[in-house]
Amino acid sequence: MEPFEYRRAASGKEALALASRGGAQFLAGGTELINWMRIGIERPATLIDITRIDGLSHITTLPNGGLSIGALNRLNDVAQHALVAQRYPVLSQAILKAASAQIRNLATIGGNPLQRVRCPYFRADEPTPCNRRSPGSGCAALHGFNEKHAIFGWTDDCVAVQPSDPAVALAALDAAYVVRGISGVRRIPARDFHVLPGEDPSAHHRLRPGELMVAMEIPRHWPRSAYLKIRERESYEYATASVAVALDLDGDVIRRARIALGSVAMKPWRLDETERRLAGVRIGSPEMDAAINAGFGDARALSRNAYKIQLARNAVARAIDQAAEA
Ligand SMILES: Cc1cc2nc3c(=O)[nH]c(=O)nc-3n(C[C@H](O)[C@H](O)[C@H](O)COP(=O)(O)OP(=O)(O)OC[C@H]3O[C@@H](n4cnc5c(N)ncnc54)[C@H](O)[C@@H]3O)c2cc1C
Ligand code: SF4
Repeated sequence: MEPFEYRRAASGKEALALASRGGAQFLAGGTELINWMRIGIERPATLIDITRIDGLSHITTLPNGGLSIGALNRLNDVAQHALVAQRYPVLSQAILKAASAQIRNLATIGGNPLQRVRCPYFRADEPTPCNRRSPGSGCAALHGFNEKHAIFGWTDDCVAVQPSDPAVALAALDAAYVVRGISGVRRIPARDFHVLPGEDPSAHHRLRPGELMVAMEIPRHWPRSAYLKIRERESYEYATASVAVALDLDGDVIRRARIALGSVAMKPWRLDETERRLAGVRIGSPEMDAAINAGFGDARALSRNAYKIQLARNAVARAIDQAAEA
C-alpha cells in the first residue's frame, strides 16, 4: 500500500471541497476501499473520512409515503430497522444475506453499490488482461474462468457481474440513489446506476468523481416481497445468482410485479418482459412459467456458465412463491 494523506470531513460541504482537489477517495466503512489499496486497484493521494458527517445516517418516511435511507447507515442497522423490515422485507433480506455479520456492522449502505466486480482477473495480484483494470488489455475471463460471470448484457470486452445484494433489492423497488456534487443534487434510478460494458467496459457506476452518495429513496411500500440468494455456501458467500421480487396481489392473482436478478450482469437485471406478462396471472399457473421464460429471451451463456440460465430461471419462480406467501 502506498502512503496517503488522511483527512476527516466535518460536513458534506467540506468533503466535497476536499474531493474537488482530485486524487481523493471517500472512506466510509473501508471494507472495499482498503482492499483495493492493498491490491493496487486504487492509489488515492488522500482519503477523506466521511463517517463523522452529520445528516447521512437517517432512516425517515418521505412525504409521498416512501422511505429515505442515509448513505452512512451501517448495513445491519438498515436491515434491522423496523420501517425497512416491515415495508421492504426484500431489502432487509438482501442485506442480511450480504457478507458476514462483522462486515455488515462496518460497511455502509452507501458504499455497498459502489463495490467493484469480484472477477478473479480484476482482483489478481499479478498483471492479467483485464479491460477494467487496464483498459485495452483484453478480457481474460471471456475464454477463461467464467463460471460465475454474466448471462445478460455482456460484451467481449467484459463479462463480469455486479455483486451487490442490496442493489438488486433497490432496483426491484424502483429506488433512486441521491448524490450530491459541488454543482447540486442528482437522483439516479437504482436500476440504471451501474454501467453495462457495451457503454463503457471500465466503468462500474454513474457516480462522478468527487460526488457524494447521500441517500437512497424508495417510493412506495412493498410488504409482499422476497430476496433469494443462490450461493455455494449459506454462511458467507457472494451470489452465484440472486432474485429480488416485489408483488401486489389480489388473492392469488398478480396485479403488479417487480423482479430484478443479481450477479447475472454488470447491473441488477430487471425482467421487464416478465413483469409485464405477470399482470393478471395466477401464482403457480402455466402462464406464470411462460412469463418467467419470456424474461430470459436475451440470456447468453459463456463457455462455462450455461447452468446459470436455468438456475436463475428456477430462482425467479421460487422467489415469486416466497413473496406471495410473505
Ligand atoms: C469478505 C467480503 C465479503 C463480502 N460479501 C458481500 C456479499 O455477499 N454481498 C454484498 O452485497 N456485498 C458483499 N461485500 C461487500 C461489502 O458489502 C462492501 O464492501 C461494503 O458495503 C462497502 O461499504 P463500505 O462502507 O465499507 O465502503 P468503502 O470501502 O468505504 O468504500 C467503497 C467505495 O465507495 C466509495 N464511497 C463509500 N461511501 C461513499 C459515499 N457516501 N459517497 C461517495 N462514495 C462513497 C469509496 O470512496 C470507495 O470508492 C463483501 C465484502 C467483503 C470484504
Ligand atoms: S470479465 Fe471484466 S473484470 Fe473480468 S477480466 Fe474481463 S474485463 Fe476484467
